[in-house]
Order: sequence, then structure tokens, then C-alpha cells
Amino acid sequence: MQYYSLNKNAPTVSFEQAVRNGLASDRGLYFPENIPQLAPDFLSRLAAMTIEDMAVEVMQPYVGNSLTEAALREIVSATLCFDFPIQPVSEHIGSLELYHGPTLAFKDVGARFMARCLGHFIAGDASAKKTTVLVATSGDTGGAVADGFLGVEGIDVVILYPKGKVSPLQEKQLTTLGKNITALEVDGVFDDCQDMVKTAFLDDAIKQQRQLTSANSINVARWLPQMLYYFIAYKQLHEQHKDIVFAVPSGNFGNLCAGMMAWKMGLPIKHFVACTNSNKVVPEYLQSGNYAPKKTIPTISNAMDVGAPSNFIRIQEIVANNFKALKAILSGFSYSDSATRAAMQSLRTECDYVAEPHGAIGYLGLEAYFKQAGDTSSYGVFLETAHPIKFAEEVETTLDIKLEFPAQVAGIMAAKKQAISIATYADLKAFLMD
Ligand SMILES: *Cc1c(COP(=O)(O)O)cnc(C)c1O
Repeated sequence: MQYYSLNKNAPTVSFEQAVRNGLASDRGLYFPENIPQLAPDFLSRLAAMTIEDMAVEVMQPYVGNSLTEAALREIVSATLCFDFPIQPVSEHIGSLELYHGPTLAFKDVGARFMARCLGHFIAGDASAKKTTVLVATSGDTGGAVADGFLGVEGIDVVILYPKGKVSPLQEKQLTTLGKNITALEVDGVFDDCQDMVKTAFLDDAIKQQRQLTSANSINVARWLPQMLYYFIAYKQLHEQHKDIVFAVPSGNFGNLCAGMMAWKMGLPIKHFVACTNSNKVVPEYLQSGNYAPKKTIPTISNAMDVGAPSNFIRIQEIVANNFKALKAILSGFSYSDSATRAAMQSLRTECDYVAEPHGAIGYLGLEAYFKQAGDTSSYGVFLETAHPIKFAEEVETTLDIKLEFPAQVAGIMAAKKQAISIATYADLKAFLMD
């Protein structure tokens, strides 16, 4: 499989090169040259397949010759080392809980897959420079990246986070791992962290010493394995339900875009719902046909605070830039913080289900779609993208409950924080040049 740049001004590359480059040389996102189709008997074999076999079969054409089947299988097996249950919330709605991974965030799958691919490629390349994954996090993402890359040979991870602006659990997840993970506590806000990272990526002096790479959903190895959520959910549901609708809480739109890839491959998904907070450029586009990125608005579902979603261009490519075709498969709805809190409360009182703000927005979007489409026969799945404990303060105040620490993170609160304080770009540069 070859990948081309969506800016159409860079050479096509293999999966390995796309993973190692992250972004193409013309700053475009990579996209597979063709979308592979599921084997004709795939759906009839699905019930009897293991999740691992299914995942290998789905991912194989995307990695092409870059990984042997044995290497791919090993990576898939290490990636999918936890459960993806669907909790029934009402008669025709279920919550696909993507948060049972090591850091309780759905990004665990993409981060683990990408880390292992990159580690594999670097190990096979004796001339490879020391690789550094450089990330800025507002809280939720950094932990999954740090944990995904923990102990991967040949790769250092440097995480910048804003001092005092992440939750106590998030801070522990960033600062207690040790080994090849270093946390830099920045005296500033998230945008300062982000600016420093962007400057470093353009700094030739640093690039002479280290191969810098990012670990967001721009990278195909983080984006594509998210297709597996939809396959895993479909596998669980298809014997009882004919029509399945997925509602996806979205920020950068990597997850939703991966779902649409699964659909394009031939997975029979009836409809997708793009669910956002007040950062609603995509729902507005679906209404008006006018795509107008905006400045980011802060909300309580802050992992979706994105004013200019990077993966939207991939969604456009999937439907060949056909607005009518897009509207036929995708609806979009957006919600304020007060609507989000009200949904968390009604899920709790009426459905006995504790959702955090991102999942609650998915639930709202699903209900809105069912109502708008007059659809009373489909089964709806909303993706619950984080464990409530990751947004404990908001969940506990809104629902007036006390959450318990799940086993994965029970020990972490007692572990010792290790972080290096920095304040300026010069501090970051000095650290990276050392
Ligand atoms: C990253 C994230 C999202 C948004 O996912 P995208 O792929 O960027 O749209 C939603 N919820 C949570 C909890 C996240 O961490």
C-alpha cells in the first residue's frame, strides 16, 4: 500500500515511511492510495473470528509490505490487550466503552499501535537517528502517548504540559512513568506548550541531533487502528441488530474519520453522527455547506476543544469531496456545557449510567439523530471515549457522587512526580540539545 499527500505535492510513500514522516514533505496529511475492500465472505466469518484475527485481516492491506504478518500480529496483540464492552443504556442505545485500556482513554489503541510500529521500524534501521516523540498535552492525550511508548527501544518521549492546568490524576499519569518518558512542566497555558513544540519542529539545530516526531492522529499509525473499534462493536452487535448507527464525540475527527474508513471498506454501518461541543465547525458545515474553522472555545469536554479539526480533510477525501454523499452518511450536532451536564444527569437518573462529558455529548447526538431521522428501528452506539475518573471533578460535582479509582490507576496517585520545570522556548531547546 502506498500513501499520498492530500496536498498532492509530495512523493507517495510506503506505510513505514508515512509512519516515520508523520506529515508529508508538503505539510499534507497522508491518505491510502486505495481503500481496501473486505473479503466477500468476511461478514459471514465474523462471528467465528477472534478479535485478533479480525484486526490483523483489517489492518493487513494498510501496512502492506512494511510489516510481516507475524510482526503485525504481534503489534495488534499488544495493542488490543483490554476489553471494549458495549453497556446497554436503553433498549436501543448502548455505550461503547473505549476506556478500559491502561490510561483509561480511547487514545490508548492508537498510541500503542503507533509506538510499536515506530519501534519496529527503528529497530530494523541501523542508521536511524535517536527518535524523540515531542507532544504538548492539555491533559488527556499525553498519558496515552506516554504509556504507549513506555519502554519502546530507540524512542524518547518528551511531554510538555501546562503547570497547574491538568487534573491530579492526569499529572501523575504524565510524570510518574520514568524510563524513556520525560515530563516538562511549563509555566504557561496549553497554547504556550503547543507553540514551543511547533517551534522545535522547525528548529534545524535540534533536528540535526534528533529525529523529531509527533504522535497525534495526523500519523496514519495512530489514526487507522481506530477503525477497529467499529469492527469490534459491529462484531458484538450484528447478530441481534441489522441497522447500526455510531455517534462519535469529536474534536480532531480522527476517530470518526477512521469509522468512515471502516464503512468504506464495506462494514455495513447505517449512519454516523458527528457530536461536538461548542467547537462546532463540522456540524455547521453539514448545515450550511460552508467550512469555516474558528478559534478554539474552552469547554468541559476539553479533549474536543478544537476549532480547526485536522482530519476533516480526510473525511472529505473518503467521500471524494461530494457534499451530498457526505450528508447521506453523516449528521452533526453540537452541545453547550449546560446541555452536556443535563445529559450526564439524565443518563444517571433515567438510565443508571455514569458518563463523562465527552460520552454524554455522543449520547445527545445519537438521540437527536434518531429524532430528526424518525428512526425507531436502528441500534445506536455512542462512543464513550474516556473513563469518568479522568474528568472526576466535573462528574462528581454534576452528579453529586464519589467515583472510585479503577485498578489501572489505583497505585499511581501514590507514585512520586518527576518533572522538569521550564518557562521559555530557550529552556526547551537547551533540554533537547543536551
Ligand atoms: C481525543 C478525544 C476525543 C476526540 O477524538 P478525535 O479523534 O480527536 O475527534 C474525544 N474524547 C476524548 C476523551 C478524547 O481524549
